[in-house]
Amino acid sequence: MSHIDSIRKDFPILKREVNGKPLVYLDNAATSQTPQQVIDVIVDYYQNYNANIHRGVHALSQEATDKYEQARIKIQQHFNAKKTHEIIFTSGTTHSINIVANGFTSLIKKGDEILVSAMEHHSNIVPWQMLCERTGAILKVIPMSQEGELLMNVYDDLLCDKTKLVFCNHISNALGTINPIEDIIEKAHAVGAAVLIDGAQAAPHIVADVQKLDVDFYTVSAHKICGPTGIGMLYGKEEWLGKLPPYQGGGEMIAEVTFEKTTYADLPHKFEAGTPNICGGIAFGAALDYMNEIGFDAIAAYEHELLEYATQKLLEVDGLKIYGTAKNKTSVISFNINGIHPYDIGTILDKLGIAVRTGHHCAQPIMDFYKIPGTVRASFSFYNTMEEVDVLVEAIKRAKNMLQ
Ligand SMILES: *Cc1c(COP(=O)(O)O)cnc(C)c1O
Repeated sequence: MSHIDSIRKDFPILKREVNGKPLVYLDNAATSQTPQQVIDVIVDYYQNYNANIHRGVHALSQEATDKYEQARIKIQQHFNAKKTHEIIFTSGTTHSINIVANGFTSLIKKGDEILVSAMEHHSNIVPWQMLCERTGAILKVIPMSQEGELLMNVYDDLLCDKTKLVFCNHISNALGTINPIEDIIEKAHAVGAAVLIDGAQAAPHIVADVQKLDVDFYTVSAHKICGPTGIGMLYGKEEWLGKLPPYQGGGEMIAEVTFEKTTYADLPHKFEAGTPNICGGIAFGAALDYMNEIGFDAIAAYEHELLEYATQKLLEVDGLKIYGTAKNKTSVISFNINGIHPYDIGTILDKLGIAVRTGHHCAQPIMDFYKIPGTVRASFSFYNTMEEVDVLVEAIKRAKNMLQ
């Protein structure tokens, strides 16, 4: 990235120190940092036009409603949804998935089959298990290889006319694998199954075109793409969102209420009960603007360089093993060092100002697959530098000498 220095200046937090050392933030797969441009939008909202939306006739309410709805259009355009009302604001991916899993309760029956991939985040496993408990449907798993790639021939065998739903992440947060979702979606549709793709980990790196993918549901969390926490989206095809019952009852989601019967509001409001995260929605739009300004092609190319360089440098460390070596992966490196617990490495790195994640990364089945308690995960973003990779590698060598 030629203008990496000016990009880094956009992120005030990158200037701070941790334990007396310059912060090296490599936990981007858990949450990204927020540029000043997005922080300014948040401040502007509370300083100048904080008001509840959709109900007020007064100026502030109109202004807040306009900005919130403009953000929905930005999101629609970014993901190329056909209709604006196919974008539902949620609190994030977990909330989005729960809306769909809950909604399918009335559409699934005993003996139906639901497929999930072996590399799912817990938020894409547990809601389906709960759906199976409610309905008597059967959860089946698409297995993966040692490299962390889905076994697509087994997927072919699992698909049948009982398959009603397929769930898979676009990119694995624990391994970085980019899954072949085009193929997954096409094959699921061939047997009449609906597909939900969890795009939480993909949105920071790739622009998904939901119409081209022909995906039924796609989920995103704004806090992983330079936006604030507590806001995200559920994209759903109009025909599916029309079929699903609302998830929560309350204000905003109704057309008419009497004690005898309530009729629900049209999309998207049917799924948006109560006062939403108005400021968050507007800031979500601003975060997409920020990232589009840099450009996703430039981001992907630079992150690929970071990944290649970091992989090569890390593999020079004696006894270091990388989990997730798929041909097609993003800038996430999960690793362990012979005989050392990941938590111990993470603790020493923290003392040196380096933020990485240790543990099971909300994907315990992957850890069981490799028979390990967890990994150390360094995840890189477009605002990280090659120098930070060097700092990480030197710190790992130091930690290793202290612990072995
Ligand atoms: C972060 C993440 C989630 C959960 O997102 P929340 O924002 O915590 O709801 C789900 N799936 C994947 C792949 C993720 O990376």
